[in-house]
Amino acid sequence: MGELEIKNLTKVFNDDGGDIVAVDDLDIGIEDGELIVLVGPSGCGKSTTLRCVAGLESPTSGEIVLDGTAVTDQKPKERDMAMVFQSYALYPHMTTRENMEFGLKMATDLPKDEIRSRVEETAEMLGISDLLGKKPGDLSGGQQQRVALGRAIVREPEVFLMDEPLSNLDAKLRTQMRTELQALQQDLGVTTLYVTHDQTEAMTMSDRIAILNNGELQQIGTPLECYHEPKNEFVAGFIGSPSMNFFDVELDAADGTPAFVHEGFTYELDEDVYADIEGRGDRFTLGIRPEDIELAEADDRNSISTSVEVTEPLGEVTYVYLDIGGQQYTTTLEGDLVIDPGRPLRIQFPQDRIHVFDEQTGEALR
Ligand code: ATP
Repeated sequence: MGELEIKNLTKVFNDDGGDIVAVDDLDIGIEDGELIVLVGPSGCGKSTTLRCVAGLESPTSGEIVLDGTAVTDQKPKERDMAMVFQSYALYPHMTTRENMEFGLKMATDLPKDEIRSRVEETAEMLGISDLLGKKPGDLSGGQQQRVALGRAIVREPEVFLMDEPLSNLDAKLRTQMRTELQALQQDLGVTTLYVTHDQTEAMTMSDRIAILNNGELQQIGTPLECYHEPKNEFVAGFIGSPSMNFFDVELDAADGTPAFVHEGFTYELDEDVYADIEGRGDRFTLGIRPEDIELAEADDRNSISTSVEVTEPLGEVTYVYLDIGGQQYTTTLEGDLVIDPGRPLRIQFPQDRIHVFDEQTGEALR
């Protein structure tokens, strides 16, 4: 088993400038075998959370519970968890074999033969058998990364804790290791808490994503849930690339059809959209993802007149940056387009694709 619970976790650092609340009353339950990715902007408390789970940092309040037992007061090596660091943290004077054996010797009283065969099996699984006699200084970044993983795997822990383990690799190797790591985690079925600020990693590797901001949990859900049904404006803006477009709008429901009014357009609301926001004041944030914007004809309802600022053809799709009411927004159009700057373009926001947020709280209303 490897069921991990983070319960009401709070971590406050006392700095010269005052208290810094790095993690604020965080609750996350991770099922046995599940891979949860913690994401969020720099400084949101991801690493501190992971370090509290590992026992490298002691929580100000709250508990870490593994398989029903609180481990909050246990030392790191007493917890049945193995951590992989961004820096790999290999011992430079030890060979790959010694690095992999070291943790096992410290944490267990396994006989020598057993340690030897476990290290060899793990090395085989990771394709690093031929590196067992080499020291970290003679290995490439990708090879060091595999050794660091091997050192964690060989311990057969209940939980893997990974802090940006791929961020020192170049883009190509990173993509390759991402899929390898994911397959490995699934094969081994080890509960994993994985920290990254890389959205692609978060979206593609995780069973569920936990999105943090200012130490607080914003949303936890499957990648597609967080993408399609963001709970608030922060999540909507953080998940998805290019980011969702946001417009400050005012509701005009005085007479006729209720509509959102923005400097660059008026957007009449369907009944079901209005029903979701009625009674919530008159200022909102309207959100639409770049790929949900469609081209329109002049007489289409709610069509918006824009002008093209820049196009970025990427082959399969083209990012088109548009001026709407003096501000820049993005749309993604299929195919390989080059549109002259300054050219007018009519677009529309399909009503079933828009998101609406409370302007004050950022809460998603639709
Ligand atoms: P990054 O993606 O940049 O690594 P993060 O999301 O992992 O960021 P943390 O490293 O957990 O964020 O930091 C959360 C907050 O706590 C930040 O404001 C950071 O400056 C602060 N912090 C972290 N460790 C300490 C410490 N030892 N002493 C004081 N403040 C700290």
